[in-house]
Amino acid sequence: MLRIGLTGGIGSGKSTVARTFAELGATIVDADVIAREVVEPGTPGLAGLVEAFGDDILLPDGRLDRPALAAKAFTDDESRATLNAIVHPLVGARTAELIDSAPEDAIVVQDIPLLVEGGMAPLFHLVVVVFTDESVRLRRLVDSRGLDEADAKARIAAQATDVQRREVADIALDNNGSPETLVAAVRQLWSERLEPFAANLRAGVPAAPPLIVREPRAEWARRAERRSRRLRLIGGDEIVDVEHVGPTVVDGMPARDVVDLVITAESAEHAAAVADRLPAAGFPRVGADIAGFRRLWGPVTHASADPEEQVTITIGAPRDTAVHTAHVVRDRLRTDGDSRLAYLALERRAAAAADRADDPRAAFGAVIDDGLPGLHSYLLGS
Ligand code: ADP
Repeated sequence: MLRIGLTGGIGSGKSTVARTFAELGATIVDADVIAREVVEPGTPGLAGLVEAFGDDILLPDGRLDRPALAAKAFTDDESRATLNAIVHPLVGARTAELIDSAPEDAIVVQDIPLLVEGGMAPLFHLVVVVFTDESVRLRRLVDSRGLDEADAKARIAAQATDVQRREVADIALDNNGSPETLVAAVRQLWSERLEPFAANLRAGVPAAPPLIVREPRAEWARRAERRSRRLRLIGGDEIVDVEHVGPTVVDGMPARDVVDLVITAESAEHAAAVADRLPAAGFPRVGADIAGFRRLWGPVTHASADPEEQVTITIGAPRDTAVHTAHVVRDRLRTDGDSRLAYLALERRAAAAADRADDPRAAFGAVIDDGLPGLHSYLLGS
């Protein structure tokens, strides 16, 4: 199952995006709908609220009077905590129920207005954020949705900023243009990235690795940060650290478009336990069964199923050779120009061989197979 988090500021166009995903076959789980559902008349949620806040939070017909509840629950931290303690577990349980009942091969899109505010980004394989300039959102909220301007402004101001959303966005959709442009972007995202990602996940294989060396991208550090946050969540107490290693961590160094991460686990047992969770989290094992793959990646054990933003993972206990090597190679690449040249020379030789070959990946792998032991002993100074 591929899990996508969808968010964006109020009026950014999330509903249009969710609708398009639904048409394409996604299972939509809408946080706003669930939040209303769990406090409908006759629910334990509504009964809990009445018990905590009194029956004057009800309308004459027995439904929840939201403004009346807000007036009571948002007055102090304790009341707010009481409200959250009633509603949050119910929303969580209902969300889990809906996700569990989706087919195993589903692409589940969770529409969550406050995803960023709730720190939920690491829960998802990918986070899609809809970005629309504030002035445009304001106009649309007033013109199309009939909101009062001051109210719309206040709601925008109460949410996270686009800068904060940018930090967690794996995919940014721009909705300053026409609805047609937005729909076309969603369709393209679906067919070019989400469907192949889901197919790789199902098959338990990483996406094909890029075989060309390119100029450095500022985006690499942000990708490393986003993926590390997810891996820290998945690893929990069993891991000590997640670090960005390899050539993409070095300022200004050309590299293949692959961010290398190393996970240091508490122990070999913990490393094995976390490694078992990585495939479902979006990072299938790198297997010898895939031509050229195992050696191509050196000590890497897992790589992302995402066809666009490649990540490799090396996981081990603190004293494992693979973990130690990753650290030493990173430090050498950062501090020593000759090491960078040697590293780049091997990658470029492999890329050139791939460029000429009928089976580029095997050709790339063969050159790396041949050169990696020598490069590592040079970098490790042995
Ligand atoms: P959200 O769900 O993110 O709060 P909506 O999808 O409801 O936002 O969009 C806000 C309003 O703007 C809606 O009335 C919607 O029809 C309108 N809208 C969305 N996208 C566009 C667009 N590209 N051009 C014009 N109006 C749009």
